[in-house]
Amino acid sequence: MAEKFVRAIFPGSFDPITNGHLDVIARGTKLFDELIIAVGRSPVKNQLFTPEERVEMIAELISDMPGVSVESFDGLTVEYAAKKKGDVILRGLRSLTDVQYEFQLAMTNRAVAGIETIFIMTSEQYGFTSSTLIREIASLGGNLSNLVPANVYDRLQQRLNRKK
Ligand code: ADP
Repeated sequence: MAEKFVRAIFPGSFDPITNGHLDVIARGTKLFDELIIAVGRSPVKNQLFTPEERVEMIAELISDMPGVSVESFDGLTVEYAAKKKGDVILRGLRSLTDVQYEFQLAMTNRAVAGIETIFIMTSEQYGFTSSTLIREIASLGGNLSNLVPANVYDRLQQRLNRKK
């Protein structure tokens, strides 16, 4: 039997991308033939970086990962996934709170578009890492060097210096 080619779509806000996201991506590459990181363009509360900036930071981080790409998208994740001929949606899980929300989202996406969602559990050291928290810690001048990649750290510093 021929092996099936599996293309996964990893949608999210990624404002900004964290080491937790990167860990999910790195482990995802072992499961899928192709992985498309899809940065949602829909306006989010307390947005720090534009979709273009978020895509740029991710592109710098995945340049040496074969089969991994990034772009931004508008509208419904399931419509974007269909357009890209994605076989599955990839999401990450950190906690039971995540499970509750992600469960509902995955059920809805399967009901409306018949697409399955595959979950990767966080690595323990990133269990508390979220973009929201990163934005808050950064605005208060906290040390984030263990939680975000160096290029994101630099951009956070630049952005917050400009705001001061
Ligand atoms: P969204 O606004 O769509 O939740 P995020 O950028 O916050 O976008 O997250 C994208 C996905 O990555 C979500 O499935 C989220 O649960 C997952 N994720 C975020 N941080 C981590 C982490 N530290 N470990 C594992 N998964 C994570």
